[in-house]
Amino acid sequence: IILRTVLNKKVPLQMGRMCYSSSVPTTKLLIDGKFIESKTSEWLDIHNPATNEVVGRVPKATQEEMLAAVDSCSRAYRPWSDTSILSRQQIFLRYQQLIKDNIKELAKLITLEQGKTLADAEGDVYRGLRKPKTNPCVFYVFHICISLHMLLVYFILAPHFLLPEVVEYACSIPSLMLGETLPSITKDMDTFTYRLPIGVCAGIAPFNFPAMIPLWMFPIGMVCGNTYLMKPSERVPGCTMLLAKLLQDAGAPDGTLNIIHGQHAAVNFICDHPAIKAISFVGSNPAGEHIYERGSKNGKRVQSNMGAKNHGVVMPDANKENTINQLVGAAFGAAGQRCMALSTAIFVGESRDWLPELVERSKSLRVNAGDQPGADVGPLISPEAKVRVESLIQSGVDEGAKLLLDGRNTNVKGYENGNFVGPTILSGVSPAMKCYTEEIFGPVLVVLEADTLDEAITLINNNPYGNGTAIFTTNGATARKYTHEVDVGQIGVNVPIPVPLPMFSFTGSRGSFRGDTNFYGKQGISFYTQIKTVTSQWKAEDATVTSPAVTMPT
Ligand code: NAD
Repeated sequence: IILRTVLNKKVPLQMGRMCYSSSVPTTKLLIDGKFIESKTSEWLDIHNPATNEVVGRVPKATQEEMLAAVDSCSRAYRPWSDTSILSRQQIFLRYQQLIKDNIKELAKLITLEQGKTLADAEGDVYRGLRKPKTNPCVFYVFHICISLHMLLVYFILAPHFLLPEVVEYACSIPSLMLGETLPSITKDMDTFTYRLPIGVCAGIAPFNFPAMIPLWMFPIGMVCGNTYLMKPSERVPGCTMLLAKLLQDAGAPDGTLNIIHGQHAAVNFICDHPAIKAISFVGSNPAGEHIYERGSKNGKRVQSNMGAKNHGVVMPDANKENTINQLVGAAFGAAGQRCMALSTAIFVGESRDWLPELVERSKSLRVNAGDQPGADVGPLISPEAKVRVESLIQSGVDEGAKLLLDGRNTNVKGYENGNFVGPTILSGVSPAMKCYTEEIFGPVLVVLEADTLDEAITLINNNPYGNGTAIFTTNGATARKYTHEVDVGQIGVNVPIPVPLPMFSFTGSRGSFRGDTNFYGKQGISFYTQIKTVTSQWKAEDATVTSPAVTMPT
């Protein structure tokens, strides 16, 4: 700490990462209902991205501990899957209330370990919930009256506040798990299907949504009757641990949820263990492709949500005020560390004249530590992420893009060691530039121009990713053409971040997804269940079969 203070100005980031104190809290494993200290000798530091101070340590679980966790899931599976579906529903009804009651604690943990602003962190948790009664009219008037930065927060978070989300969706499980029946398919014969759990399932999560993404995974898997092994991101494990404690408090039996920590070894363990039947992964492409291939080769179901390059198309007929506000919010909110961030804008025709206003409005965002009042843009997750983002900005400049707004060298008073990059806009970008071909995952908006809508659609369809996109227009025919022709899984029309609510599914496609059954919604229920079909014949009269039938029954 002394060294870091002394050398603060010269090598702040590196020293921040080396700063270590044995008194920092350790993250526990959850094995068979007990939160236990790992016996490992390998630990990773958890940093506050606003200061780079070490705020905790997370173990790389030993092979023995990982085996014990799966063993616990396996033993708990039969009793849990035999538990009545109404009992499982009751547990998740209590769970959603407990999450609501603890929202502030969860948000604080997210801000501490991940860096996003507290308001945004609450949005992360609300993805599992509904805001306790808020009159939408009051909400609108309130937001119209407040400052620009809050308006931007509104555009990102309002849908999350007003509608039910994943854990609440899980509470509808009795209807969601209904099978099908067809009586009298032939004389005295009926066919019906059961939807049943599949066994032990596992989830591997990224750092950017410490609450929302684990909540896409274990609640849906478990409410279907599966037991669950969770591996949170090693960079933000705290929120998952609190979510697990709340689930215990809601009444989930021991062994139904186990948690291990680690990196590659833990991931490969999950891909290889024969008792694990399905893996849900969310994260980057290299990890997702590896997990999809290794898990599938071992006979598991795998759903893999991966990286993105989301384009916002701005038509000249769009509502200018709304469009600029929505672009700014969707590009720079959460410091651009959202898989659905609008990281690329295509200005069609005369809409390119709006660029100066876009720049001015982006300048008004306040870069600060996530727990500071009024913060709009928090830090990036790590010094490495900051270096990567800054080098991609420089690559754009070197390749001929125009740097309209430069967020490098952003100095945040009191947080000089933090991983801050301010809103950055590169215009005149072309598809071959590195800043376009790579996912930046930072507060950087790259701007391209097109003369026609067709040109914009071709550009987007040539990009390998297919996570999300948005069009801004007041013309219904333009919007319809766009939604029909663009080859992207999730499309917003005047909606910048069109993350579907959980009665639908999260439907990223092409290079952003591997697998064939998406997260949450009806597809999520399909992923975590299998079908058993029963055909039965009960004859009313006593008709004895007199000779064996060797032909295929029809
Ligand atoms: P990441 O891939 O580095 O980490 C995700 C998980 O995979 C972590 O638990 C990590 O321990 C593990 N992991 C990392 N590298 C691995 C490897 N080589 N082999 C095996 N396991 C590995 O991702 P991240 O940096 O935590 O998250 C950011 C990425 O996630 C971005 O690319 C973003 O677009 C993507 N993301 C996608 C979605 C979506 O729904 N499509 C949502 C959120 C984030």
